[in-house]
Amino acid sequence: MGKIREMEKLQKKEILDIGLALEKANFEAYLVGGCLRDLLIGKEPKDWDVATNAKPEELQKLFPESVYENQFGTVGVKTGSEDSALKIVEITTYRLEGKYTDKRHPDEVRFAKTVEEDLSRRDFTINAMALRCDTNIRMRANDTNEYGLVDPYGGKNDLKNKIIRAVGNPEERFQEDALRMMRAVRFMAQLGFTIEAETGEAIKKHSGLLEFISKERVRDELSKLLMTENAADGIRKMQELGLLKQALPELTEGVEMGQNKHHIYSVFEHNVRSLDYAIKQNFPLHLRLASLLHDVGKPRAKRGDGPDSTFYGHQVVGEKMALEILDRLHFSREDVEKIALLVREHMFVYDPETFTDAGARRLLRRVGKENIDDLFKLREADRIGSGVPKAQPYRLRHLKFRVEKVSQDPISAKMLKVNGADVMREANIQPGPKIGFVLSILLEEVLDDPILNEKEKLIERIKALGQMEEKQLAEMAKFAKKSADEAQGRIEEEIKKKYFI
Ligand code: ATP
Ligand code: MG
Repeated sequence: MGKIREMEKLQKKEILDIGLALEKANFEAYLVGGCLRDLLIGKEPKDWDVATNAKPEELQKLFPESVYENQFGTVGVKTGSEDSALKIVEITTYRLEGKYTDKRHPDEVRFAKTVEEDLSRRDFTINAMALRCDTNIRMRANDTNEYGLVDPYGGKNDLKNKIIRAVGNPEERFQEDALRMMRAVRFMAQLGFTIEAETGEAIKKHSGLLEFISKERVRDELSKLLMTENAADGIRKMQELGLLKQALPELTEGVEMGQNKHHIYSVFEHNVRSLDYAIKQNFPLHLRLASLLHDVGKPRAKRGDGPDSTFYGHQVVGEKMALEILDRLHFSREDVEKIALLVREHMFVYDPETFTDAGARRLLRRVGKENIDDLFKLREADRIGSGVPKAQPYRLRHLKFRVEKVSQDPISAKMLKVNGADVMREANIQPGPKIGFVLSILLEEVLDDPILNEKEKLIERIKALGQMEEKQLAEMAKFAKKSADEAQGRIEEEIKKKYFI
């Protein structure tokens, strides 16, 4: 009986009010789906779903303060609750799903008569239970069913045994909607459950059907997976079941691909372990993605075999691959660009002896101040994910200090003490490309030595540069940037060789 009292307490007032209003009008009302599952394992639901036999029009009449949200018969009732999870309670008319000829959307939505019918279209047993929304749990409870749950597929038992099991025939269920296969893995990772054997076999057999699912749904499900605590295991499971080959095929190129004497894990396992660190640190989604993808370019950049193999340039290959992967999955422009940049720059070198202030400024300019902390975090995930954290953390602290120190220095033309107008006036030239060239040359000089960023000194330099032909200036601007980048590149290559990275 203790448990029943617990359940009674969990029935929120807002939900009971809705249940009461529906029952008064001779309709049924049940808590269903994820919120009931979460309640039964003692987790606070993040949203509340009610199922009923009332039709959407009837619901709108009963609850004038509601919004009819979609074609699936869901009405959102505004409760005026303080609790954000309860502000809008979604009430959905019992439904059956029709055939999915395109494997994406049911061809039609048909309303069902009973809650049992509604439960039969749901994906997993733990998501296919229902509990009446009223205070009479006690009345309906009996010896075998202490909550008076509607539980036709043994969901409560699977919840107890921590099992993800498809409702009905798993092969048919995954053929109806292939995204369910990713949902199985996500619930596994979210709840720390295992996927039941027959359900797992059915996923293996039908993993290829994921191809037919819209990229947006795959993206959203992948994002949800990555935000769970056990996402690293989830990614490994996706690989094992053949789902990763569909959703992120590039990552599977590193499976069982050995590295060199400085690594103990395969490329794939290293990527996954870096993700795991990002999760443990509660990094946001874009950093979790960056951690998972940071070495995605290694298999294609690998040269040689065995302990002395190398991966030079894998960050550039990886940047391109990350762009392709994330674009394909329709991540936002902002996420795509940020993550690709982090992948490209994750190899930055921080040897305290050779790393100059100019190097720190150039790093800041390439990465942007807004991304530099993320880059350090990614590097941390990379280091821990290697399993042999070789580069001492003091080095990273040292670099952070260096970057902090130069972060007020000019790193873009905007930060020069002169602007385009000064160039035109002092060099007496008309608007045109020449101005940009002069500013570029000045910036390269100032990046090397910020002391030069004084108006008088710069004006002197503008006067000298202004005498030169446009072609000559263009060459100089190009050369200044190139030689600076090359000098930096040479230093970095030396260090990389030293550390075999
Ligand atoms: P969470 O909200 O924690 O992500 P959830 O179980 O509530 O988990 P939702 O996506 O909100 O997941 O779906 C609510 C319910 O709708 C599920 O519990 C399940 O019963 C049903 N459901 C959702 N998506 C599907 C699907 N693709 N196939 C079958 N049933 C589904
Ligand atoms: Mg939900």
